[in-house]
Amino acid sequence: MNNNLVVYNTLTRKKEVFEPINAPFVGMYVCGPTVYGDVHLGNCRTFISFDLIYRYLVHLKYKVRYVRNITDAGHLEGDHDEGDDKFSKKARLEKLEPMEIVQRYTIGFHDVLRIFNTIPPNIEPTATGHIAEQIEMVKEIIDNGFAYKINGSVYFDVEKYSKEYNYTILTNRNIDDLIANSRDLGGQDEKKGRLDFALWIKAKPEHIMRWPSPWGWGFPGWHIECSAMSSKYLGDTFDIHGGGMDLAATHHTNEIAQSQACHHTEPAKYWLHTNMLTVNGTRMSKSAGNGFLPAELFTGNHHLLKRGFSPMTVRFFMLQAHYRSTLDFSNEALEASDKGFRRLMNACALVEKLQTSDHSDVDIAKLSRRCYDAMNDDFNSPVAIAELFEAARVINSIHDGKTCIDQANLSLLSTLIHDFVYDILGLKEETIQTDEMGPLVDFIINLRLQARADKDYATSDKIRNGLFDLGIQLKDNKESTSWSKV
Ligand code: AMP
Ligand code: ZN
Repeated sequence: MNNNLVVYNTLTRKKEVFEPINAPFVGMYVCGPTVYGDVHLGNCRTFISFDLIYRYLVHLKYKVRYVRNITDAGHLEGDHDEGDDKFSKKARLEKLEPMEIVQRYTIGFHDVLRIFNTIPPNIEPTATGHIAEQIEMVKEIIDNGFAYKINGSVYFDVEKYSKEYNYTILTNRNIDDLIANSRDLGGQDEKKGRLDFALWIKAKPEHIMRWPSPWGWGFPGWHIECSAMSSKYLGDTFDIHGGGMDLAATHHTNEIAQSQACHHTEPAKYWLHTNMLTVNGTRMSKSAGNGFLPAELFTGNHHLLKRGFSPMTVRFFMLQAHYRSTLDFSNEALEASDKGFRRLMNACALVEKLQTSDHSDVDIAKLSRRCYDAMNDDFNSPVAIAELFEAARVINSIHDGKTCIDQANLSLLSTLIHDFVYDILGLKEETIQTDEMGPLVDFIINLRLQARADKDYATSDKIRNGLFDLGIQLKDNKESTSWSKV
C-alpha cells in the first residue's frame, strides 16, 4: 500500500501523511447536493474534485466506501434556521409536490455527473430516508445535555458545548467574534444563544414534508442528516469528510459538534475542502445569478460564452487547477484546455502505434515517478498534467522518429499515460462519428490544397499540424490527400 500520499487536512491546517484508520479500507463522506434546482458548474467542480480523489485512492488499491448524500429535506433558505425550506418554496413556485422537485433535480444531478464521467458513490443516502436515525441522534444529544427543546423544536446549545469542546476547531475562529458578528433574529428567535442551531424544526401548518417525533410533527435540521448518515454507514469516526470550502464554517463545524455531543468523538480524521469556481473573481452560485448550467456550457448558449465546450474539455479544465485553489472561468482558459485535452487523447492513441528500438533515449520510470509524486502531494492534478504533457511530447517525438524507445520503456509509457488519463483523471474519448466528420475534414483538406497551390506552405503546415492535434493525420499522395484518425 502506498503510504507516500500526503493530504491537506483543514482540521490541522497542514499537510499530513494519509494513514487510514483501518487500511486498506477507507471511509469517505462527501456532502452532496441540495436537490431543489439544477446543479451549476460550481457544484460540479466540487464533485469532480472528489471524483479525482476517489479515483486516485482506488488506483492506490485502497478499498474505498464512498458515501455522498442527497439533501432532500431540512435545508432552509437562511443559514440561521430562518425562512422556508428550499423544496417547499420551489414546489409552491412550480405548483408541484416537494418530492416531485426532489425527484426531478436528483435525476438532473445524476445525468450531469454521468456526462462528466464521475464514478457514482457506493452509497447515496437521502435525508428523508434517514429520519429515524436523525431523531435517535437528536434524542441522544438531548440526553447528553447539549440540546434543548422549545415549542416543538430542538436546538443545539453551542455555549454549553463550548465549555467542554472547541466549537470552532475546524476553522480556528474566535467564538466571541462569531457571537458578536452573528445576526440577532429579533423577537422571533426562540434560541437561547445566537450560535445555537436547529436539530429538529417544528412544522408550520402549511409545511408538507413533516414527520412525527418525540417533539411533535416536524422535520430535521440540515446539519444533523450528514452526522446521522455518515456515522450509520462509515462508523462514528471515519477517514475522510469532504465538501466545498463554503461548508466548513457552519455546516461542517456543526457536524463536528453534533458528533462529539452524541458519540464523544470527532467524526472524521481528515477534512478535505475544495475551493470555489468563480466568474470574474466572484463565486459561482445560484443566488448570485452567475451560475452556468452544464448544458449552457456544452451548447455555448450563454452570453458569457464565445462557443460551446465539450464535457471532457470542461472536466479537464477543472483538473488543470488544484482542488484547493480557486478556479476562474474564462473562454481563453477553456480554449487552452480544449487543446490540452486533445493533445493527451492523441498521445493515448498514438502510443499504441509506436515502434521500439534496441535502445532508449528516454527514462520513463523517472517521468512516472514525477506523475505519482504530484498526485501524492495532496492530489496535485495540475502538476501531474504538466508531466503528462511531457509524456505526450515524448510520444510525438518517438512517432516522428526523433527519439528512440525500447520495449520496456514503451510499455511503461503506455501504462502510465493510460492509467493517468483514463483511470485517475477520468477522461474519455469523445468520438465524433467518422461519417459526420468526413465532409468537414474534406473541406479543410481542400483549403490546404488551395494554400499549397498558392505556395503558402506556412498555412498548409499549420492546417496539417492543427488537424494532427485534433487526432486527424493527413497523408499526401501524388494526386490527393487522404486522412485517418491518429
Ligand atoms: P449545494 O447544492 O448548494 O448544497 O452545494 C453542493 C456542493 O457544491 C457543496 O459542497 C458546495 O460547497 C459546492 N459548491 C457550491 N458552489 C460552488 C462553487 N462556486 N464552486 C465549487 N463548489 C461549489
Ligand atoms: Zn453535509
